[in-house]
Amino acid sequence: MKLKGISASSGVAIGPFFLLSTNIPVPTSQMSQLSFEQEGHLLNLAIKKVGQDLEARAARSSGELRDILLATVEIATDPAIAEEAAGFIVSGHTASYAMVKAAEVFQELLSASGGYLAERVSDVANIRDRVLCEIAGVAYPEIPPFEQPTVLIAQDLSPADTSDLDRGKILAIVTAGGGPTSHTAIIARSHGIAAIVACADVIEAAKLHKGNNVAVDATEGLVTFNPDAQFVGQIAEKIEKIKARKSRVLAHGPDGYATSDGFITPIYANIGRLEETSVAVASGADGVGLLRTELLYLDRKDAPTLQEQTAIYSELIKPFIGKKVIIRTLDAGADKPMAFINFDKEPNPVLGIRGFRTSITHEHLLRTQLEAIAQAAKDSQVEVWVMAPMITFPSEASTFVKMAREYGLQKAGVMIEVPAAVFLADEITKVCDFISIGTNDLGQYLHAADRESAPLAAFNNPWQPALLRAIELIAQAGLKNNCPVGVCGEAASDPVLAPVLIGLGVNSLSCNVTTLGDVAQSITAHSLEQLLLAGKAVLAAKTAQDAKNLARAQLVELHNLGL
Ligand code: PEP
Ligand code: MG
Repeated sequence: MKLKGISASSGVAIGPFFLLSTNIPVPTSQMSQLSFEQEGHLLNLAIKKVGQDLEARAARSSGELRDILLATVEIATDPAIAEEAAGFIVSGHTASYAMVKAAEVFQELLSASGGYLAERVSDVANIRDRVLCEIAGVAYPEIPPFEQPTVLIAQDLSPADTSDLDRGKILAIVTAGGGPTSHTAIIARSHGIAAIVACADVIEAAKLHKGNNVAVDATEGLVTFNPDAQFVGQIAEKIEKIKARKSRVLAHGPDGYATSDGFITPIYANIGRLEETSVAVASGADGVGLLRTELLYLDRKDAPTLQEQTAIYSELIKPFIGKKVIIRTLDAGADKPMAFINFDKEPNPVLGIRGFRTSITHEHLLRTQLEAIAQAAKDSQVEVWVMAPMITFPSEASTFVKMAREYGLQKAGVMIEVPAAVFLADEITKVCDFISIGTNDLGQYLHAADRESAPLAAFNNPWQPALLRAIELIAQAGLKNNCPVGVCGEAASDPVLAPVLIGLGVNSLSCNVTTLGDVAQSITAHSLEQLLLAGKAVLAAKTAQDAKNLARAQLVELHNLGL
């Protein structure tokens, strides 16, 4: 039996599976037999215990998982949840029922906020389930320690569910829910575990195939229960190719990775936190192509000072001596609202005051940031470039470049992620030192489809012909005006699409640290001619799948690399 899901972390595995139970006590709306003081006490005690447990898990964790768990502790212990629940308890309901209702209210609020906040909906669900178990006095269904390497199958996984996993024993993860930006996906990617999310029927299939093996091909997004001998052979071959790929030595010069015929492509890393710098260096990045500075300040109520910013940027660029770091100015707004900038409620924040547009109302913040970047860059021996997000007009681009120069920043460019800027790319590339294409937003705006929407995921597929043609238009404008063009959106992190982008005329790539190695593999395994042919081929594609097939037909080494 074959099922299709969305690939969230590449890799291939085969073996036994474990299906995580979803047995959580479900309360009814029946009135309580206890006093409201007793029910209130039960609820507060349960919330406290869950908060303490999550805190202990955070203390045992590190990096991104620790940060996510600490954010979950804050949600669990937010007095607003207990207050909301108290209303139901006072009207005679049980603590469990009140918790369910309070969680519903919070989930609705978070969903309505969209973006990063909408991702927290599943965290609230997990906190609710843990509290319900606590109140009922039953054990929360934890993932047991595995004796042998196992594929983990679940409806969804919360960060707390995965915090104590022995990662060496997890062959792959498959969830029925979640999306490519869900916590499951982030955690799987950061640990290099193959993962498929949004695999709708996997729970039913797992129940039917209890005791059998399952093959997970997260490169293709395919889950196969009870695979036949021939398929097992194919999967085993793919696993061998991946092993061989990981040990290949890649051609790399001082300026970047080399194709099989010596054409140089710099491959940079995308980062947003201090902890990621060492991972970026270890992954073989030629520097940083996108430092998302807003991620440093998402929780801040007040604007960071010049001194605070100078200090953190100095730390962030330190590991890249002799290399390049492109710092993006704050991309506040939309899915990344910041309390000290986006305080007016906008009816449609994705089309509102975000990115460079925030300088209309907060020019001083942009100036402070540029000054801090310039101070950090001074005497650092790191080549620091700056770029502005969400540029629409050439006039905005030239305003930004001039402003950067005022602070002594000699290399200034902009991101192209708004369709208008694609058609104005000729003028924009004339006034900038470089361009970086944000394919995540460009895809969303080109197709008028929210990039976080699971039902519209196909619209945001980076292989969509309209996006590929837009990239080619920008690359051509850059070539004409001698302005280097890079891609820093997720498209550059796809090891099959990355060589195509170079074939379309893009000069550099900046990707996710977890796939950077695979991107470098696929670029170095091919010749420039193969990349150019792949770029030419996709321009004739009618659909995203068509584009991928046409590219694969040219990139013949992908198969040998197990990609
Ligand atoms: C993009 O839009 O492609 C991009 C890189 O910016 P972000 O994902 O931070 O919006
Ligand atoms: Mg963007």
